[in-house]
Amino acid sequence: RQNERESLYIVLNYAKSFYQEQLLRTDEGQAIGLSYFRERGFNDTILKKFELGYSPDVWDAFTQAALAKGYQADVLEKAGLLIRKEGSSTVGYDRFRGRVIFPIHNVAGKVIAFGARILKVDKSKAAHQPKYLNSPETSVYHKSEVLYGIFQAKNAIRQQDVCYLVEGYTDVVSLHQAGIENVVASSGTSLTVEQIRLIGRFTPNVTILYDGDPAGIKAALRGLDLVLEEGLNVNVVTFPEGEDPDSYVQRVGAQAFKEYLGRAARDFITFKAETLLLDAGQDPFRRAEVISEVVGSIVKIPDAIKRQIFFRRTSEMLKVEEQMLISEGNKLLRKQQ
Ligand code: ATP
Ligand code: MN
Ligand code: MN
Ligand code: MN
Repeated sequence: RQNERESLYIVLNYAKSFYQEQLLRTDEGQAIGLSYFRERGFNDTILKKFELGYSPDVWDAFTQAALAKGYQADVLEKAGLLIRKEGSSTVGYDRFRGRVIFPIHNVAGKVIAFGARILKVDKSKAAHQPKYLNSPETSVYHKSEVLYGIFQAKNAIRQQDVCYLVEGYTDVVSLHQAGIENVVASSGTSLTVEQIRLIGRFTPNVTILYDGDPAGIKAALRGLDLVLEEGLNVNVVTFPEGEDPDSYVQRVGAQAFKEYLGRAARDFITFKAETLLLDAGQDPFRRAEVISEVVGSIVKIPDAIKRQIFFRRTSEMLKVEEQMLISEGNKLLRKQQ
């Protein structure tokens, strides 16, 4: 087991270097991959910092290079890099082809997986060609425990005592380039307890910067009770419709981006109450549901003093007596025990 993991780290590191070489030192990589990153506004320093790469648009370019270096086909397969077809006489084909490559590092900085983006999103063929392709689960890559960018961000998270949580790879990279380094991505999955605990090793404060589309707002609401349960303080910033942290920081610049965060940050409970209330309108039954939803979140907060503060704050927003919220909360707390 230990040996298998070690050999995967070695081959994954080789793959990272291979994709980087392809991006920076081949005609195809420069013409397609490098110009793609340039169009997105990424500079050379940031490409190197995140070790970004390019996988050629060939069935087995990586596999052939790796075999020639003496790597075993079954190790390539176990690393999630080679796809073998049963009963086929050929060695198989590369998982990543014709894509730009985002290596995913563990906290210690070892490459454990890759995210790979196609260059042009063709909506009609979306089902066949997903925008992003990721490594499968392997013995070194457990998706639910990983946050993209944690290795590059961990010192800044400690120093700033807050972690920004974004959805995508490019959000992390763009924010770094803008000098905002305390940022990690959940990479499109809903948050897990393991990911939250990973952040909690560095800071108790999380600010969620999800995309300004309905999916992003839903994702910010969903599963976030989990973060409260873990005792972290959660703030939320939403972006204008159609923007994400990457597009926004590239458009307005680092200074204006930071000012926006200062202005737009709301604590999670306020965010939840405001969002749900807006949805419910004046319908009294739906407003009553909102109240129980919000109380349900408040009782997830382990700290009694913080709970008290949120009961007071939301009683004004929800226009109900604080005492009513507290007794509703106490009922739920008793049920939990
Ligand atoms: P870009 O700016 O390159 O279009 P993005 O990061 O803004 O990408 P989103 O559509 O906002 O992309 O998705 C957020 C994240 O969700 C992605 O960075 C990726 O990790 C994941 N994701 C998106 N689409 C897919 C997909 N089809 N398959 C797997 N993961 C995906
Ligand atoms: Mn989105
Ligand atoms: Mn984007
Ligand atoms: Mn996005």
